[in-house]
Amino acid sequence: MSENCIFCGIVAGAIPSTRVAETDRAIAFMDINPGTPGHLLVVPREHSTDLREAAPEDLTAATLLAQSLVSRVIDRLDADGANLLSCIGAEAWQSVFHTHLHVIPRYKDDPLQL
Ligand code: 5GP
Ligand code: ZN
Repeated sequence: MSENCIFCGIVAGAIPSTRVAETDRAIAFMDINPGTPGHLLVVPREHSTDLREAAPEDLTAATLLAQSLVSRVIDRLDADGANLLSCIGAEAWQSVFHTHLHVIPRYKDDPLQL
C-alpha cells in the first residue's frame, strides 16, 4: 500500500467506492467521473505506479477481470462495444498513479472522444 494513493485507499476500503467485482488480486469499481454510463476501473490490489511496474500475476489478474467485465457491461447495459485502456504517464492522461485499466462501454453515436 502506498500512502496518499487514492486507489490503495479504495482497495483498503478507507475511501468509499462502488465495487462491482473482486478477486484475490484485483478489484473493479465504478469510475467517479464516467466517460460513458457503466465506466469501470480495474485495479490490482498491490500498488504499482503504472502497467510497466505491475507484477505479471497482478496484470494477468486485472486483465482477466477486465475481460469478464467487458462481456458483463455489454450484455447488461446493452452497449455496442467497449474500450479497454490504460494510461501510462501524465502526458498520456494518467492522473492516478496506481496501475488501472479503464473498461469503457461504448454506445452507437455516444459523444465520448478518446
Ligand atoms: P487516469 O486518468 O489515471 O487514466 O484515470 C483515473 C480515473 O480515476 C479517472 O477516470 C477518474 O475519474 C477516476 N477517479 C479519480 N478519483 C477517483 C475516486 O476517488 N473514486 C473513483 N471511483 N474514481 C476516481
Ligand atoms: Zn496505490
